[in-house]
Amino acid sequence: MMKSTLLDDDKKHVWHPYSSIHSDLPIFPVKSANGVHLTLENGRQLVDGMSSWWCAIHGYNVPELNTALTRQLDDMAHVMFGGLTHAPAVTLCKKLVEITPEKLETVFLADSGSVSVEVAMKMAIQYWQARKQTNKQKFIGLKSGYHGDTIGAMSVCDPVTGMHTLFSDILAKNYFISSPECAFNEPCKTEHLDELRNILTLHHKDIAALILEPVVQGAGGMKFYSADYLKQAKTLCEEHDVLLIADEIATGFGRSGKMFACEHAGISPDIMCVGKSLTGGYLTLAATLCTKQISDAISNNPPHVFMHGPTFMGNPLACAVAIENIRLLLTSSWQQNIQKIEQQLTIELEQCKKLDCVEDIRVLGAIGVVEIKHAVNMSKIQQAFVDQGVWIRPFGKLIYLMPPYIINKSQLNTLTQAIYTVLMNRQHL
Ligand code: PMP
Repeated sequence: MMKSTLLDDDKKHVWHPYSSIHSDLPIFPVKSANGVHLTLENGRQLVDGMSSWWCAIHGYNVPELNTALTRQLDDMAHVMFGGLTHAPAVTLCKKLVEITPEKLETVFLADSGSVSVEVAMKMAIQYWQARKQTNKQKFIGLKSGYHGDTIGAMSVCDPVTGMHTLFSDILAKNYFISSPECAFNEPCKTEHLDELRNILTLHHKDIAALILEPVVQGAGGMKFYSADYLKQAKTLCEEHDVLLIADEIATGFGRSGKMFACEHAGISPDIMCVGKSLTGGYLTLAATLCTKQISDAISNNPPHVFMHGPTFMGNPLACAVAIENIRLLLTSSWQQNIQKIEQQLTIELEQCKKLDCVEDIRVLGAIGVVEIKHAVNMSKIQQAFVDQGVWIRPFGKLIYLMPPYIINKSQLNTLTQAIYTVLMNRQHL
């Protein structure tokens, strides 16, 4: 009998993200990853334009991160976090408090971005219960927003792209407002906040929090909006006794040009989620930070505990690699690197404007987006990019780059050139 190949077994037994098991879309076995390169099983080297979905900010196989991980492995891979604590978790939490907006003082370590959003939502509800405002159980989300795939997180994702209809009996009914119309670097007019203002005026007694991705709406549309909107939204929330949850899972750790995207608006949210690049793409870890006011209120009132506690909470390996990841970032010239990436993306993606199929081009920090007029043919475009020697994974009408911050000029040029060539050759159709 013929030995089955990796791809045969994959097709037979393995779900991939947002996939059908009968899909004919190409899938590429990877053998290894190093620096900004992925090496496929067939030996082909690809320049990575995705940072493995915003995570691998320092690239792959990073000596410092490898060392942090193996050192920690010698001490312990994991211990339970109930009744025990350890240096990796405490050092990481202290560091997160230090680098995030100033009012955030307490950290809850979670297993993934979606879980940290669940935790944030539970924190907001428990906070208002502690304040004897038990009706405040609903959330306001933004259209084109994305916060994760678990049931709670889904209930605040864009209702259409989040496929609320599929789960309508089980998803909590929340309020939605339009995606901000004011573009990044543009002032925000009073009317841009009318919808938010109206919902807050009418329903603030039922609303625990507004949840949003600050400045960059990621997986829901790769849109950048005015920091002024964020600033005014925070003020409106305060005026109506509604908390602000900033989901910085995608934007955190420099991606938008600031360490956290909230800094574009100079605001400190009440609750903030971080994840993805927290461990430089090594292990799954996220965190939900909140103000002392929130952690005190929850702890000082019945049931006197915050009701969440995952088995792998504070995993020492993940914490150790996260500490080193943050140290590497802070000691690098990350701001200059991102500025350089931003400038190069702006200049080099510009040529795509002359292609008929292109609707819009936008760049912010180390994020470059080419929006085209029609959804891409995934099968064709994915293969075309691999043939060009790059790893770029579009979705819908969006072809975007968010490379590791260590990428050099010629590697980044390979990525932008590949987008232009593939679109020019109409390999997206
Ligand atoms: N929030 C945002 C803004 C995200 O981009 C993502 C992941 N794309 C999540 C939450 C969910 O994170 P995870 O996939 O780690 O559960």
